[in-house]
Amino acid sequence: MLKRVYLTIDDAPSAHLEKIVDFLSFYQIPAVFYVRGGFVEQYCSKVAYAISKGYLIGNHTYSHSCFSELSFEQCQHEILKTELLIDACYAMAGVIRPKKVVRLPFGDRGAGANARTAQNDTEQQHVMQIQKFLAAEGFEKLSFHHASEYIDAYWDWDTQDYKTRHIEDLTGYIKNMASFMENYHHESAVILLHTFDHNAHLFQPTLSFLMAQSIAFLPI
Ligand SMILES: [Zn+2]
Repeated sequence: MLKRVYLTIDDAPSAHLEKIVDFLSFYQIPAVFYVRGGFVEQYCSKVAYAISKGYLIGNHTYSHSCFSELSFEQCQHEILKTELLIDACYAMAGVIRPKKVVRLPFGDRGAGANARTAQNDTEQQHVMQIQKFLAAEGFEKLSFHHASEYIDAYWDWDTQDYKTRHIEDLTGYIKNMASFMENYHHESAVILLHTFDHNAHLFQPTLSFLMAQSIAFLPI
């Protein structure tokens, strides 16, 4: 039975970031926000606000492309361009960045979405080249995936809060969460939420649902 979760939030920042941060902060819920560089350009001050409230900001690349479809040079560019923007947000907040963490879009490490395993040497080389680059750039694993062989953070539970059928049907979405929990047989999970402008109304109900199940939120 699920008792503990690590809260990870992708595709930040959205227009609602401060509201989300205030909610989490009020309930003392730890979280990491993985940001897209393109969105940070629009909302750097919101990211700085999250930082000032003690939230960790991770790199989720600049344009959210599948790394299996990009050259190694393009992958490097996606990460490095976003790094500069994240650093600027930490500078704006006047906070020293505690660590560099990363989640790759669609869980695509260079061989396909959802951490697809490399099917041939070329794919495997691409995956490993990206991992070596991340290590050389100083990216670290977080406690919740310490045992993983990969530096980027994967997840256990994607609530699919980005799907239209969930965005349009809160009851169905919550039912879907309940059914995931019934079928999940571990005590802890890395949960993946998304913050977009168009799914903002799902955020508080998601957290309220988890709190109602007496789920504990673990430090990131
Ligand atoms: Zn994403």
